[in-house]
Amino acid sequence: MPEASTNDLMEKIVNLSKRRGFVFPSAEIYGGFRSTYDYGPIGVLLLRNVKEAWWRSMVQLRDDVVGLDAAILSPPAIWEASGHLANFTDPLVDCKVCRERFRLDKLDDPHTCPTCGSEDSFTEARQFNLMFKTHAGPIADAGAEVYLRPETAQGMFVDFANVLQASRKKPPFGIAQIGKSFRNEITPGNFVFRTREFEQMEMEYFVPPDEADKWYEYWCNERRQWYLDLGIPEEELRLRPHDADELSHYSSGTSDVEFLFPWGWDELEGIANRGDYDLTQHMKASGEKLDYFDQASNTRYVPHVIEPAAGATRTMMAFLLAAYDEEEVRGETRVVLRLHHRLAPYKVAVLPLSKKDELTPVARDVLHRLQPHFMCDYDETQAIGRRYRRQDELGTPYCVTVDFESLDDAAVTVRERDSMEQDRVAIDDVVGYLRERLA
Ligand code: ATP
Repeated sequence: MPEASTNDLMEKIVNLSKRRGFVFPSAEIYGGFRSTYDYGPIGVLLLRNVKEAWWRSMVQLRDDVVGLDAAILSPPAIWEASGHLANFTDPLVDCKVCRERFRLDKLDDPHTCPTCGSEDSFTEARQFNLMFKTHAGPIADAGAEVYLRPETAQGMFVDFANVLQASRKKPPFGIAQIGKSFRNEITPGNFVFRTREFEQMEMEYFVPPDEADKWYEYWCNERRQWYLDLGIPEEELRLRPHDADELSHYSSGTSDVEFLFPWGWDELEGIANRGDYDLTQHMKASGEKLDYFDQASNTRYVPHVIEPAAGATRTMMAFLLAAYDEEEVRGETRVVLRLHHRLAPYKVAVLPLSKKDELTPVARDVLHRLQPHFMCDYDETQAIGRRYRRQDELGTPYCVTVDFESLDDAAVTVRERDSMEQDRVAIDDVVGYLRERLA
């Protein structure tokens, strides 16, 4: 972790998030709604940028991956076939002494209650299905049962034949999707790390069966590199292959991309070699053909699937933790989010030195020149030093200050976030100047 000690880092991130508008506790005016969060004016920008960076690398910069946005509400048949109705469960135990509820597989010691310290006070473990069920239509009978998807992945399998036909792709090719998923987690917590409503970024990569191992390796490396390229330090990131007893029955290999959270290493993303399990299951259950006919070799096969499955909200939190820094500047502590430019919520802040009438039109002219190119903030109240500090806390890479000299020299001062160095730049050149540096 950077300068700040890890013990209070979480608290600092949670406080900063609320104070500056990254993440608010949900339904706060009604006393809050446990473990749900709203993304505020700054958080919504950061989260969009995380998703945009993923989409750019997974879809835009490739010609072998197409996108999808499938429905969240889904019929039981999908989850019957995928195995989620039977197997998407966590083992739940209750402490008979303090009545607190836990996920057995996440307890450090399965004999001791972490809340009250009682020994062997747990009930027998019950398998608890994590899917949210609701009813579609006015009559809440069994025929109207629907589920909120617990992952985005099934959409790619269910739509496989349609996508194949419409996109004219052939294996190896992928289908990518970003969207909300819902899991009735027994123990949500650690801020937005584990919530019941969250966003995923998943891609199913369909390959000829004999190429599965090669592509699994490929995607493990690609996905690890993505986090590094966006500024997660090497010593805070690792790729951890699952042990044999961790693997799901259909997977021949899974690795997690893990980040060093304040509580230790934990998962950001899972990359799994899923074989032909999913397509085969849906073929059996639906009776539809979900295979591929390879004209070159005149053979028909069910593609194998490599799945990199990441969490957008969880990853956003990791970027915040990794970017947080404190440093001494002239006897004062400066908090700065050293976010990668691509992730920074605002790229530029336009700050007129004072609210005086002469400066406003010039400052607004600069703002209007910048807005078509960059997400900008505009802030004209408080002393300039405090406004710089606020932008540092938001991770804004550049501040553009309009002062009284600007009226004479038609130039502005551009301050860079990390070095705090300042440059005088002609107003006519400011878009080009920033474009070059934010590219
Ligand atoms: P865990 O073991 O932590 O419950 P998982 O291995 O079941 O997670 P996957 O099904 O592989 O998770 O989901 C892919 C990604 O989706 C995870 O790596 C994580 O980033 C994200 N994710 C899963 N569950 C949650 C959640 N409850 N809150 C936030 N993000 C989540």
